[in-house]
This record gives sequence, structure tokens and C-alpha cells, in this order.
Amino acid sequence: MIKRAILFGGKAIVSVLDTTDTVNKAIDIHNFSQPVARAMGKALTMTAFMSGNFKGQGNKLTIIIDGNGKGGKAVLCGDCGAKVRGYIENPKACAERDASVSEIIGKEGSLNVIKDFGLKEPYNGLSQLVNGNIDEDFAYYFTASEQLPSAVALGVKTEGGRCVKAGGIIVQPMPNCSEEEIFVLQDIVRNFTDVGELLCEKSADEIMEFYFGHFEISRLPDIYEDYVCSCSRERIEEMLIALGKEELLAIIKTRGAIEVGCEFCNKKYVFETEDVKGLFDGN
Ligand SMILES: [Zn+2]
Repeated sequence: MIKRAILFGGKAIVSVLDTTDTVNKAIDIHNFSQPVARAMGKALTMTAFMSGNFKGQGNKLTIIIDGNGKGGKAVLCGDCGAKVRGYIENPKACAERDASVSEIIGKEGSLNVIKDFGLKEPYNGLSQLVNGNIDEDFAYYFTASEQLPSAVALGVKTEGGRCVKAGGIIVQPMPNCSEEEIFVLQDIVRNFTDVGELLCEKSADEIMEFYFGHFEISRLPDIYEDYVCSCSRERIEEMLIALGKEELLAIIKTRGAIEVGCEFCNKKYVFETEDVKGLFDGN
């Protein structure tokens, strides 16, 4: 659930996200260790926020966080309407201890954001990671790459391998927001040191009213984020057809069948000799 409101009669937008169900879906699929669940929970929350702002149906977001941390590279995707998915190279990293998000993500590397609006060239933004805790990395990305000095507070509370609460509070200025107003907003967001814990005490709506209600707010429609994979047998078939019939039959000869797994949802697609021949019917 993403709650949004305009502040100061149009000078900034605040979003309060509760992404608990989405993060638990990701945990069910990927079996994350608790530290990885906190890192990926934050990254998925950010992906939901950014793809929730998309206006066009076919708009697509890809985020690659490559910080040389214990979890390895993380890849996240979001479709218009905050339909998100993601995976990380080592989903079970640091399972035996309480590692920080920075340790899972790492800080020696980059944050790459690709926004595909269906134009000739997708928008491609790249920034260095600040400390790998995701909040500051994205705040820096927005400022450096999108010229939007944003305030970002994300948090995931886990217990017994599950996500108890996950979400975020993000404030972005509009062009007519003064530096003083940006400063006031950033100062408020800086006080949200544990958004997961805060969401246990207050709902997203209550957070909105309690902390931002006195800034001339007008509410925008809610967005319902979710963990959704866009893979399908048809898409895999298109990919296989591009490889060519001979190549595919040769693979089947050595391996018995072609098995293609989806990294985002762990679904397996199996193609045997008859399936491959069927792909090239009439060709
Ligand atoms: Zn999938």
C-alpha cells in the first residue's frame, strides 16, 4: 500500500509505504536469510515507490545494485502500478548472524536505474553507492542523477524469518520548493530511524496525518503495490526460437531437455524434443 500526499499546496510530495505483504511474498519465493530479507525488503520498497510513480502502462523500471557485499548483485524490476519483483545472487547470505543491510549490499560499487518509457533510448541513471544501506544510496542517486534532493527513510523489521513490517517514507520536492522547505522536510525524515518499528505502532495513514498533516496536505489516490512476475512460457519460447532449431535440439541431445528457470519467481519451464519441434512448425 502506497499512501501519497502533496505538501505546502504543491511544493513537495510525500509517500508513505507499507510493503509488508510484498516483502513476505519475496521471502516465500527466495527463502532469504533474515539479513538479506531486510536488504531486499528495502530495495523492493524503493522499487515499488519508483514504479508507483509511472504514468504509462508499458513503463518499466530496472534497478541494479552492485556493491560487492555479502549478498552479491541485486536486480529489481517494477512495472507501472508498483508491480515489483527482484532477486539477489546470494539469497541466504549471512544466515547465521545478524549482518547489517550495508554488509549485505556492500558499498564499493554502483546503483544503476534504467527507466524504459517505450522511447528509442531508455533513461539510464548511474550513481556511486554511499554506504550500502539503500536509504542514503537512493537519496544520493535522486540528488545526483535526477536533480531531486529527496529524503528517504526505509525499514524492514524481521522476526523468525518473516517480515513483521516493511515500508518507507519518501519526500520529494517539486520545482518550486524552496531550499528552506526542502531542509525542513529532510530534517523530519531524518528522524525516522526505524520505519519497520514505526509501522508496528502506526499505520501508513496515521504516519501521514501525524507527521505531515499540518503541512497543507492534499491526498493523492492510493497505489496497491504487489510482488508480480511477468514471465510466461510464451516469452521463453520467443527467446528459444531466437537460438534456432538445430542449437536447441543439440542441447536436448546432451542434457535430455531444456530447462529454463525464472530468477524472479523460481518457476521452471521445461522443453522436450516435441516442444522444440512445435516451436518451428511451419518454418
Ligand atoms: Zn517469473
